[in-house]
Amino acid sequence: MSLFKIPVTDLKGFGEKRAEQFKKLGVCSVGDLITFYPRTYEDWSKITKIKDIKEDGVYCVRAFLAAPVSDSKGRNGILLSKGTVYDDSGSLPLVFFNNRFISSMLEYGGEYFFFGKISFNAFGAQMVSPAFSQASQGKTIQPVYRQTGGLNSRTVANAVRQALEMLPDTVGDPLPERVRKRFGLCGLREALENIHFPKDEEALENARRRLIAEELVVLNLGMRSIREHGRGVSGVRITRDFSAEFEELLPFKLTKAQKRAISDCVTDITEKGSPMNRLVQGDVGSGKTAVAASVCHTVIKNGFQAAFMAPTEILARQHYETLYEFLAPTGARVELLTGAMKEREKKRVREGLASGEIDLVIGTHALITDKTEFKSLALAVTDEQHRFGVAQRSRLLSKGKNPHLLVMSATPIPRTLGLIIFGDLDISVIDELPPGRKPVITARRFSNQRGKVFGFLKSEIAMSRQAYIVCPLVEEGELENVVSAEEYAAELMLGYFSDIPVEILHGQLKPSEKEKIMTRFSEGETKLLVATTVVEVGVDVPNASVMVIENAERFGLSQLHQLRGRVGRGKTQSYCILISDSRSREAAQRFDIMCATNDGFRIADEDLKMRGPGDFFGSRQHGLPQLAIADLADTKSVELSQRIADYILYYYKDLRNDELRLLKAEIDRLFEQGGQQTLN
Ligand code: ADP
Ligand code: MG
Repeated sequence: MSLFKIPVTDLKGFGEKRAEQFKKLGVCSVGDLITFYPRTYEDWSKITKIKDIKEDGVYCVRAFLAAPVSDSKGRNGILLSKGTVYDDSGSLPLVFFNNRFISSMLEYGGEYFFFGKISFNAFGAQMVSPAFSQASQGKTIQPVYRQTGGLNSRTVANAVRQALEMLPDTVGDPLPERVRKRFGLCGLREALENIHFPKDEEALENARRRLIAEELVVLNLGMRSIREHGRGVSGVRITRDFSAEFEELLPFKLTKAQKRAISDCVTDITEKGSPMNRLVQGDVGSGKTAVAASVCHTVIKNGFQAAFMAPTEILARQHYETLYEFLAPTGARVELLTGAMKEREKKRVREGLASGEIDLVIGTHALITDKTEFKSLALAVTDEQHRFGVAQRSRLLSKGKNPHLLVMSATPIPRTLGLIIFGDLDISVIDELPPGRKPVITARRFSNQRGKVFGFLKSEIAMSRQAYIVCPLVEEGELENVVSAEEYAAELMLGYFSDIPVEILHGQLKPSEKEKIMTRFSEGETKLLVATTVVEVGVDVPNASVMVIENAERFGLSQLHQLRGRVGRGKTQSYCILISDSRSREAAQRFDIMCATNDGFRIADEDLKMRGPGDFFGSRQHGLPQLAIADLADTKSVELSQRIADYILYYYKDLRNDELRLLKAEIDRLFEQGGQQTLN
């Protein structure tokens, strides 16, 4: 029976209340408990002699209890448990608060390790609420668990100890012995015991290595099987290249980098026989849309259909307009399909797609619902891909017979991460901006300088430019002195900017409303757009020259860069002003980087360093399942897992092999339920 089916209440001393507390940590079953890995460890191996403790700090002493612990009520009714311990160099008083079990847990005359904070007062040193364990247990590295109200790390450790005892003697190991041997990985049971209660540092390291490797291998193989389609033969035959003809349609000349990306794609689809799997990466404003349009054009001229999926209504509409302008003159039939459209309209577009009358459809998630069918889909394009889950991408692909895939992303992804997130995606980089672009000038200002900033906005608007002011999303009742877009816009419209057309754009508006507001802004009717982060991705209004970001400390580096990318898209000098009163060091660091560089790759790197990949690619954004122990920034482990996965596929050919039964089950679980494992 799987330990994931045994509730924690089966453990000794576990009542409903305790179970509730554990639930807050996401732990419901005994199996959950075993895979609830420590947050960190305390090293108890460095023992300090009592006489050597000279100042405040955290210490570990090995000492005997000199007398039974005595309990007394302190002021405010707090229970104080006091004791004294000694080693061969001196003695030390201990004090514990509000723990009625201490006096029965510590035995008079017993020898223990005590690990905790020492503070000095008028009477000398005192150790406050130390953690302890019997010296005879000889454990030198102690786990520290994530805690919530009412549950401390020690309680969790005790529960984990019990749970581990319930592990059957032969735990089924998802990594076959052959694989473990080959890569020097320990068995699952040993790993689980040592990740919680390591014998020593080496054992801990081995346990970590093994569990991380397993988790990343599961992720790696899972991502590969999702992409299986890449190995089949493309069901479409595209033979002729129309990209030269496409260039003639454009009002500008393509950059070298754009041409290279287009030619990479066209080579993929005309020469390889297997479906294209290509990622086009380019910084904001590098002209990715034109690249996609060119490939769509070639596909359409060969007699097939193309679909272009964008993450938001606004973007879908905007791409629709751009692509319509480029391609409609060639006779191509281009249509929009979004959830916000009237049912009747959607039905009409869907019929056109099924009959093959429509050549190119641009849309949102509406494209991947069951109702949408294509006659001959040969190319699926997804824009700003990190917003789509892998599953959604493969849904779109399933609408054709092994169609080609073109993914566009403005988020530069470090190579090792690319391996996992995109696996065998080929990559083209657009490393050049269209000519005549001036780097955006970025500055940080404090809120008491807002008046000046507004004056500057007015002068830009007077020169017939446009501007954005972005405010962070604010939940109701959240912190004061965070600017909420709605109130703020109202203030501006009535006050300083009362003579200027201002509009507000936020997520709660109806899609049709958003669309109208965006249209009025892009046509220059509205001069100043106050918005939440809905403008973050992709929106293109080349005449906008100033981006003001309020409460800039609330945005991550990559997000700030994306926002800044909304300006500087035309020939005029553009500005980005970060308003913040934050005194946090990290925020200051982010502002410094923003002011120092416009280079998206550098910014992504810094972002990854500062935040770690957990935040960089929040799991909702990249569509990867939540990881329990592995860290995607850990290049070495990521590469090791890649090699292990290669080996597994080489040796066993495919995952249906019986020796991989447990591994396969884990892959299914990770991708279906978001992060659970099997323990059988
Ligand atoms: P992104 O890569 O951020 O998606 P877009 O495709 O939206 O960038 O292009 C940004 C702007 O640059 C658009 O207004 C587009 O028309 C313009 N543009 C794209 N390629 C070129 C080029 N080669 N020369 C001049 N302008 C270009
Ligand atoms: Mg774009």
